[in-house]
Amino acid sequence: MRRIAVTIDCEHPDKPHFGPNDLSDVLDVVTGANLPLTFFVQGSWASARPESVKRIVDAGYGIGSHSYWHAQLPMLTDDGVRFDIGLAKDIIETVCGRPQLPLLRPPYGVADGRVRRIAAEFGYRLVDWDLDSVDWDHGQSVETFVENAFAAGSGSLLVHSWPRHTADSIGALVAAAKQHDAVFVELDEFLDSRDTPSVTRSA
Ligand SMILES: [Zn+2]
Repeated sequence: MRRIAVTIDCEHPDKPHFGPNDLSDVLDVVTGANLPLTFFVQGSWASARPESVKRIVDAGYGIGSHSYWHAQLPMLTDDGVRFDIGLAKDIIETVCGRPQLPLLRPPYGVADGRVRRIAAEFGYRLVDWDLDSVDWDHGQSVETFVENAFAAGSGSLLVHSWPRHTADSIGALVAAAKQHDAVFVELDEFLDSRDTPSVTRSA
């Protein structure tokens, strides 16, 4: 049985042809679907869309950090990394009303030992992903999203909040699970084997 933990990075789109997404269509799709989800929220997105973050919290999903500015963290000075991670943490906790998951997904999946050490000062461990939906690729279809999600074995799946097909893709993913002998699980299942990302990814 294939086990997949769906994770959604909530962030401002970095591609001009994508409009802003308040995630309401995604949350509409997953409501009542009994689908475990983990959200990694960019701090500046949380400050721009507090009502979306509250809706995620109220639905009972866990929220980790996706930094504040979505910079490549190894490019920042020590103080820069601290400022970015600390600011995101403060905003997420303020909007959520309480501390959230002690997990940080570094933007682009890029980090090093220094970033990991500083993140640990804030109680965060770094988390990347196992399976890439490639939903950041302009023009990708719902069908390709589902193919990519089921292209490898079990693991955590990277999904983004802003592509125009995200809600439909998640709906299609859930609908196709049985046919691919897949079940959806919490991210916890894969945390023991996943750790610091060390290579630049494309998302
Ligand atoms: Zn991101």
